[in-house]
Amino acid sequence: MSFTFQIDTTFTDKLPADPVTHNVPRQVVEACFSWVQPKPTQQPKLLIHSPEVAELLDLNEKDCVSDTFSQVFSGNALLDGMKPYAMCYGGHQFGNWAGQLGDGRAMTIADVINSKGEHWSLQLKGAGETPYSRTADGLAVLRSSVREFLCSEAMFHLGVPTTRALSLSLTGDDVWRDMFYDGHPEYEPGAVVCRVAPSFLRFGNFEIFSKRGDLTSLKTLLDFTITSYFPHLIKGNITTDTYAAWFAEVYDTTKDMIVHWQRVGFVHGVMNTDNMSILGLTIDYGPYGWLEDYNPDWTPNTTDVEFHRYAYGKQAYIAHWNLMKLAEAIAPLFESVEPLQNILDDYATQYKLAWQDMMCQKLGLKQFDEALVESLMNTLEVMETDMTIFFRKLADVEAEDTPETCIQTISPAFYDDDWQNKAKKVWQDWFEDYLGHLKTNAVDNRKAAMNQVNPKYVLRNYLAQLAIDQAHEGDLSMLHELFEVLKLPYAEQPQFEAKYAQKRPDWAKEKAGCSMLSCSS
Ligand code: AMP
Ligand code: MG
Repeated sequence: MSFTFQIDTTFTDKLPADPVTHNVPRQVVEACFSWVQPKPTQQPKLLIHSPEVAELLDLNEKDCVSDTFSQVFSGNALLDGMKPYAMCYGGHQFGNWAGQLGDGRAMTIADVINSKGEHWSLQLKGAGETPYSRTADGLAVLRSSVREFLCSEAMFHLGVPTTRALSLSLTGDDVWRDMFYDGHPEYEPGAVVCRVAPSFLRFGNFEIFSKRGDLTSLKTLLDFTITSYFPHLIKGNITTDTYAAWFAEVYDTTKDMIVHWQRVGFVHGVMNTDNMSILGLTIDYGPYGWLEDYNPDWTPNTTDVEFHRYAYGKQAYIAHWNLMKLAEAIAPLFESVEPLQNILDDYATQYKLAWQDMMCQKLGLKQFDEALVESLMNTLEVMETDMTIFFRKLADVEAEDTPETCIQTISPAFYDDDWQNKAKKVWQDWFEDYLGHLKTNAVDNRKAAMNQVNPKYVLRNYLAQLAIDQAHEGDLSMLHELFEVLKLPYAEQPQFEAKYAQKRPDWAKEKAGCSMLSCSS
C-alpha cells in the first residue's frame, strides 16, 4: 500500500446503524446509515485529480498516480479500516415531501483526520447500489462526473463554499442511460468522482426522522452534528438554546452561499432539501448552469421548465423555503417554535443586506444605491447581455469617461450586434448615473477590487460540454486545461481569453448539455 489515512469512525460509532446489511432498495428506519460495499469495476482509470484536495488529505503526487489511488477512488478496492456506508435522508423535491431518498449512488468510504487535525469525509459518487438506490443503478456517467469534478473545484477557487472533488475515474463499465427521459437510452461510459467535505449531512437527514415521528433518532443526530461539526456552539450542556444557535448558523451559512451564487451567476438547478448541506456548502452538482445572458428566470434544469422553481432569481427565496422545512423538522425538539421563527423572520432582511453589500462590491461602490442597482437589473435584461463579461468590463470604465465610451467598453458583453438601436439609450442613462457614483462613491483601487469579485473565467455551460465531448473521444486535454484555468478565475490569463472568456457561441444556445440539462446522470 502506498498511502494510508487516519480513519475516524465516530460517525458510524455514535449514530444508529441499519441492522440489515443486504444491499437491496428498501425503507430504512431508525438508522442514520447502512453499511454498503462499492461495486467492483472492470477497468478503473484515473482521468484527473485535484492536487489541492489531495494535499488536504496529506496525499502527494506520487500517491495520486499510484495504482492504489485509482483502485480505491474508483471503488475497486478499500484500504485497511475503510468501512463504507450510505446515509439515510429524505427531502422535499420541487416543493413536495418525497419520503426516503438517501445516498442512492453515493457512499462514504471513510472519514479521515489529516495531519492538521481536520476532519474530511471521502465519498464516492457512482460506485454502485445502496439500500437507497430505489429503482436506479447507483452508477454515474462520464458527462455528469466531469461536470461535478470541474464545477466543485471551480467554485472553490471562486471563493464559493462547496464540497470538493479529489478525483474523476472511468470505471471501464458501460451505463445504460436515457439522458432526456424521452425513450432513447444509450450506453455511456461509467465514471466515479471522489468528493470531499467536512460533512455531507443535508437538511433531509433531519427531515426524515421528524417526518417519521422518530424524535429519538432526530435528537441523536442533531446532538452528534453539533458536537462534531459545531462544537463552538456548546456552552455546558446541549439545550434547545444550542439547537436554536445551530439553526441560526445553518441559516447564516446558507444565506452567504446563496449570495455567492448570485455574485458569480451560478444556478444550482435542483435546490431540493436533500441537496442542501448543513454546512452551507454547494452540494450535488447535477443540472446546474451558469448565467450567460443575465436572465433571472433562467434555469438549466429541463425537469423545471414548467415552473422555473429553481431559476437564478429565485434561489434566495427557495433557500428560505428550505430553511423553513429544516426548522419544521427540528421544531418537535422545542417547547416553543418562537426562536426558530425569529431566525426565519430575519432572513429577508439579512439576505438583502448581504446581497446589497455584494452588489456594491461588484460595482466597486462604497454605498448601496437602490435606484442604480434596480435600474441596472432592468437594463441588463433589455437585450441579451453576458453577465460575466459585463461586470468584468465594467471595471475598465473610468469616472472621466462619457456614457458613450462606457457602452463601447462593455459592448463585448452584448449578444446582439444591433445594440446601438436596441439598447443604447437605456445604457446611456444608466452610465450617467453610474459615472456620477464613480466621482463620489467609488471604493479605493476600484478596478483591482472589482476584479477580485467579478470573475473573468467561469465554467460556461458550453465549455463543460466541449470538455465532455472531447473526453468521450479519449482526448482529456481540454478537461485538464479548463481545470487549470479555473483555478485562477480572477486573473487575466490573457493566453486563455480567446478560448475560455468568450460569450456563448450561437451553436450552443439550444444544444443539449449547453443550455438544457436533465437530472439523468
Ligand atoms: P438528486 O436529484 O441527484 O439530488 O438525487 C435524488 C435522489 O435520487 C438521491 O437519493 C440520489 O441518491 C438518487 N439517485 C439519483 N441518481 C441515482 C442513480 N443513478 N442510482 C441510484 N440513486 C440515484
Ligand atoms: Mg441529491
